Amino acid sequence: MNRGIPSNCGCGGEIRTFTSSTQENPGRPFYRCETRGEDHLFKWVEEAVLEEVEDVLPKIAVHEIEIAKMKADIEDLMEVALNNKVEIQKNKVMIKTLMVYSLFVSAAFVVYVLY
Ligand SMILES: [Zn+2]
Repeated sequence: MNRGIPSNCGCGGEIRTFTSSTQENPGRPFYRCETRGEDHLFKWVEEAVLEEVEDVLPKIAVHEIEIAKMKADIEDLMEVALNNKVEIQKNKVMIKTLMVYSLFVSAAFVVYVLY
C-alpha cells in the first residue's frame, strides 16, 4: 500500500473522504475508494497524514543542510565580490595615474622636440 495521502485506488477509482459513524471510531475521518470492498483502498486520514509528515521530515533535514551550504557559498562569493570591487577601484586609480603620467610625458616630449 502506498504511503501518505492516497490520490487514487489501485482499481483506478477515485478516493473520497468520509467520516466514520461506527461506535469504535465515531467521527474519525477516513479515505475510501468510491467502490467499497476488501480489494479497494481504505485508510484513516490521521494515519495518512502521519505518513506524509514522517516521509517529509528527512527531506526537510536535507534541505536545511543544503541551505546552510548555499549560505556559506553566498558568503564566499560576497567576499570575492568585495575583493574584486576593491581591486577594480585600485585599477581605476592606477589607470588615471598612468593617463596623467603619459600626458605629461607626451607634453614634455612635444616641448623637447619643438624647442
Ligand atoms: Zn478501488
